[in-house]
Amino acid sequence: MAPALASDPISDAPAVPRERLEEVFADIQSHTLYDHELYGCLNCGICTATCPSAHYYDFSPREIVQLLWAENLEGIYDAMQEKIWACAQCYTCAARCPFHNSPGGLIMIMRETAIKHGMQSAKDVLRPFSRVLMKLIATGNQLAPNMITPDAFADWGPNIAKIDAPLNVLRKAIPVPTLHTMDTAWEVNIKTSIELYTIWEATGVLDQLEKIDENLFDVITDVMDEKRADYADWLEEQNAA
Ligand code: SF4
Ligand code: SF4
Repeated sequence: MAPALASDPISDAPAVPRERLEEVFADIQSHTLYDHELYGCLNCGICTATCPSAHYYDFSPREIVQLLWAENLEGIYDAMQEKIWACAQCYTCAARCPFHNSPGGLIMIMRETAIKHGMQSAKDVLRPFSRVLMKLIATGNQLAPNMITPDAFADWGPNIAKIDAPLNVLRKAIPVPTLHTMDTAWEVNIKTSIELYTIWEATGVLDQLEKIDENLFDVITDVMDEKRADYADWLEEQNAA
């Protein structure tokens, strides 16, 4: 059963223990960037007034910053169950805040912490992106020209006619050879892919992925192992030549 929102008095789910609330907040507060993103808060609401997400969702960066500034542990935990995922990370708030806070940056820290703690909200939000992540790991790109089909983008309405162009021919007209591809947005050198894997490992990105989607993590590590084996073979061939 998912934990009760700490402030939900009518939920049947067990309340979140105080130790867990403290542990989550301690992780947020000890993030390297935390002191650079929060200097104080006037509660002026300028961030919320300029926030595009606040216009469409039940979401307010002012409220999030106030929760952190007041160290409202229950409120912080509650916000991590849904609200923090409404932010579009545009950082308009950071440019406007008279206190030089970065509400968007604070929300990014809270998201990282939600992932670190394997919160269900993080799993739910990131699940639809598993196909994108697979494509990124396998090819180095998220999207490819051959993914842009009228069927896949029916919501484009009449504009869909514009993508009936012969993309394979048009791509060849681009003066950059690495863009003459249809299966990937551009051609990614295998050495670059291996370097990216090393960065993802060293920075803990893969550990985070394992926390929120173990199956996807297993598939991705298999793909990485295969690519690394291909690269080792290629290096051996080069040395032998
Ligand atoms: S974070 Fe900045 S802009 Fe937002 S309410 Fe606080 S002081 Fe105002
Ligand atoms: S970064 Fe997030 S909170 Fe800040 S203005 Fe953009 S959407 Fe709103």
